[in-house]
Amino acid sequence: MTLTTRPRGTNDVGPGDIELWHKLEEKIRQVCAAYGYSELRTPMFEHTELFQRGIGEATDIVEKEMYTFVDRGERSLTLRPEGTAPAVRAYLENNLGAGALPVKLYYYGPMFRYERPQAGRYRQFTQFGLEVLGSSDPLLDVEAILLPLELYKACGLSGFQVEINSIGCPKCRPSYRQELVEYFEPHVDRLCSSCRSRLHRNPLRLLDCKVESCQEVLAGAPQIGRHLCPECSAHFAQVLAYLDALGVDYKLNHRLVRGFDYYTKTVFEVTSAELGAQNAIGAGGRYDGLVEELGGKPTPAVGFAVGVERLLLALQGQDKFQAEPAAPHVYLVHFGGESKLRAAQVAYFLRGQGLWAELDYLERSIKAQMKAANRLGSRYVAIFGEEELGRNSIVLRNMRDGQEQEINLQDLEQLAKILGECGK
Ligand code: AMP
Repeated sequence: MTLTTRPRGTNDVGPGDIELWHKLEEKIRQVCAAYGYSELRTPMFEHTELFQRGIGEATDIVEKEMYTFVDRGERSLTLRPEGTAPAVRAYLENNLGAGALPVKLYYYGPMFRYERPQAGRYRQFTQFGLEVLGSSDPLLDVEAILLPLELYKACGLSGFQVEINSIGCPKCRPSYRQELVEYFEPHVDRLCSSCRSRLHRNPLRLLDCKVESCQEVLAGAPQIGRHLCPECSAHFAQVLAYLDALGVDYKLNHRLVRGFDYYTKTVFEVTSAELGAQNAIGAGGRYDGLVEELGGKPTPAVGFAVGVERLLLALQGQDKFQAEPAAPHVYLVHFGGESKLRAAQVAYFLRGQGLWAELDYLERSIKAQMKAANRLGSRYVAIFGEEELGRNSIVLRNMRDGQEQEINLQDLEQLAKILGECGK
């Protein structure tokens, strides 16, 4: 029989890898708690319209990357490709803005995009993201950068680079768009097909094209700086001042634009020197118009999303982030029959105390059970020998120093205490 394999661009995460994920998830919760963020869990699928309105029709994601399907009730639904539009929808639908502002939310979970899979780019991937709604304070733009940096540092990652830019607002961006179109039009023959098709619909996106022939044209492209309105300029200057005051290293990148239409003012991206072509380990920006676009009252907001698989890849490259391999507290070696029954009772008791007790389910020889205990790295072995069981006791062997002691089974609390202390 042939095996059914997982779909292209997806991953299984199992024993040996999952421990690192758990460790990272724990760090995420710790950092978010310190910054006052609460977790928000939204559905894995939403009405397609949410992303069309939120992300924008002329974006790669909406044009060609969404997993969209019609359900049995004839509704068009889409597996979420990103977390910001769902977070804003949930914010509005649950009236989360009714309490104290700003509202600080974080999410963690799978996203889905029909992209060409390669190292660090998948069709199902995990994002940890945060969103702050209800304030245009530039300090929040900076905090949205600081929080993921804190996470990277807490994991021991070094060698990352923050790039930042301002892409203005609906007041000042149109004149820049116009200047860009005028600049690119005479060079249209040298642009790649995707840039040509975007030239009039979304000219800012041409700025981050990686195709060589486009790069040459891009070198002379006008910068947004002098188009920024006084409000956007002042806001950006404040963001940079806070970054300087907090000692955050960053690089101004006039060509940094993002793949979503909802961004206004500040945009940022963090890259890792550990990764190849897909080197962005996180990105985000301010989106002051999205809440209104999705039916709410005008509400400034800013967010950031971290690619979890890419972060783990970058950490692997540095060998700094390792999870302690889990090992049983005790392996209960039994001889079958009555001895197995007693071992099962003791295992049940110990597990109830939160201790990892392991035993044989394959009728293996004593020698094979000792080998299994060793392979699992068990810290103790308890031997349920006939002679000792006659005295209602077992032999407990410390696998580190080989010391043995007889423990009476009347006193299981004593056994649990010894085992509980061995992990400290
Ligand atoms: P975006 O939502 O496109 O701004 O992406 C935010 C972060 O998510 C990126 O910096 C990546 O780290 C990660 N990411 C985006 N797309 C993918 C993908 N297809 N596979 C893996 N990670 C991704």
